[in-house]
Amino acid sequence: MQAIEESIKTGKIPNHDNDSFDTKVKQGALSIKNVGKIYDPEGVHVEALANCSMEIGAGEFVAIVGPSGCGKSTLLNIMAGFDNLTQGEILLDKEPLATIDQPPSPGPDRVVVFQSGALFPWKTVLENVIYGPVTQGGMSIDKAKLRAKEMLSRVGLTGIEDSYPGQLSSGMQRRVEITRALINNPKILLLDEPYRAMDTVTKGASHQYLLELYDLTQKTIFFITHDLDEALYLSDKVHIMTSRPGYIKKSLAVDLPRPRKLSMLTSKEFMEMKAELVEAVHEEAIKAFKAGEREMA
Ligand code: ADP
Repeated sequence: MQAIEESIKTGKIPNHDNDSFDTKVKQGALSIKNVGKIYDPEGVHVEALANCSMEIGAGEFVAIVGPSGCGKSTLLNIMAGFDNLTQGEILLDKEPLATIDQPPSPGPDRVVVFQSGALFPWKTVLENVIYGPVTQGGMSIDKAKLRAKEMLSRVGLTGIEDSYPGQLSSGMQRRVEITRALINNPKILLLDEPYRAMDTVTKGASHQYLLELYDLTQKTIFFITHDLDEALYLSDKVHIMTSRPGYIKKSLAVDLPRPRKLSMLTSKEFMEMKAELVEAVHEEAIKAFKAGEREMA
């Protein structure tokens, strides 16, 4: 915990031995090409996405922002393999992940963490974290426990291995979940507003832990959020989606060095990027609001 507190203050990442993750071989590049999604085409016909395209580099941390209902979760669900697309294609490391002829299916190379949380309440923290590697990865229980304890300690969670999720704060639960996701060594981590319901202090600490895990594992991260500060502070690139049907209206490269430090939140560069982001998102939010009024009329 002390190491993490130090890292929150200084923005410096403690030294780690990275044996668990080969950060030299980066995977998880995504090509999202003209993706469209129409829900219930013969019935209510909701066009959630249209011509949505973006390139995400292997090991890149991208944030997706846009008005509510613009199709962010729809895109994430397609990438996770929970839903199909109705136009375009998505490639993962140049291989088809989702096409019209080949609907995507969930796989261990992509893991999702939602804001509502999905830990097994009847299992302890340690049992939750080792569940994937033991049941799907073929890892021995002893090896999985060692790996789990090592990773939990890196996010300041030593000593809670035998606790149940219900005994933990929401911030700790989210950290356990992200650790559980990453221990499976996926190519991509898909995060759908994981910190939405958190107070500012817990959220700030959660950011630092996520940055710590990102620096450690170098996994591709696709992070949906409404919080523009969060988007800029964490990511390498922020993609702004239009109101529904969603596509990428603008992409903003976040030119802040890593490790990220809290002092960056008030820097001139940060403020300038935020002003650009606020303007682009606000414009879409107004459009979405007006469209909602039209739909209600
Ligand atoms: P966001 O994540 O940006 O808030 P969503 O991807 O959840 O947006 O939703 C995009 C649009 O698709 C919304 O208008 C939503 O109501 C609609 N939608 C989502 N899921 C379904 C569904 N299963 N059937 C019909 N419409 C849906």
